Amino acid sequence: HAKQEMLSIKGLVTSYGQIEVLHDVDIHINSGEIVSLVGANGAGKSTLLMTISGLQPTDRGAITFEGKDLAKISADQRVANGIVQVPEGRQVFKDLSVHDNLLLGAYTRGKTPEVMDDLERMYTKFPILRQKRHNLAGELSGGQQQMLAMGRALMAKPRLLLLDEPSMGLAPLIVEEIFNIVKELKEEGITIFLVEQNASQALALADRGYVLETGKVVIEGTGRELLSNEKVREAYLGM
Ligand code: ATP
Repeated sequence: HAKQEMLSIKGLVTSYGQIEVLHDVDIHINSGEIVSLVGANGAGKSTLLMTISGLQPTDRGAITFEGKDLAKISADQRVANGIVQVPEGRQVFKDLSVHDNLLLGAYTRGKTPEVMDDLERMYTKFPILRQKRHNLAGELSGGQQQMLAMGRALMAKPRLLLLDEPSMGLAPLIVEEIFNIVKELKEEGITIFLVEQNASQALALADRGYVLETGKVVIEGTGRELLSNEKVREAYLGM
């Protein structure tokens, strides 16, 4: 069946004060895809994610989600509309239990029976979180905190999940586990925008990808195309 465009970004310009960080960015994400965005430190990847989730205002350009112009939609309303971000560095509530962190992900939905069912589903998806449900989030390892951050985001029932460097600082085996979960989420029908410095694994997983360099999209293509692209191999895959 025909691909349906879920998110469309056209001519996006974003600045911090006088400093323009994103220059005329065009990106689209089709429903059901994993799209990876790779780029060096400081390229503007996090800024782009925050612009999509509404935490950072835009100077120019349009962002459309499922046909709706996001310009007048607040960050809160974007979550309610199905755009949910897992921030860089996890940012779980370290002094709250695992259980309460997960429930907070569903705060816009209330403590309904459906929310409690979803909580049960999270514990099935992430058995370690069930085991540690009464622990403080701050007591978890980095990988467990990443799972908690993802579980918390999933409690908001995203249709588009924005992942900011989920592999950061994690051991290779844990990274593998996290990326496997990302694949499962796609199979469950969640569309994924994955920001990563770990380009090889992020592109191997992706249907399509973009390379961001100093605030500009410089290369785009299928995951496979990017993995075999000479420039990508040299600059981002260390080959
Ligand atoms: P990283 O992997 O380090 O997060 P990134 O590609 O996500 O890198 P951004 O965090 O989006 O990059 O930063 C892009 C540019 O904007 C950088 O030059 C950064 O210094 C600058 N920047 C980021 N946040 C702010 C801010 N709050 N105020 C001013 N400048 C900022």
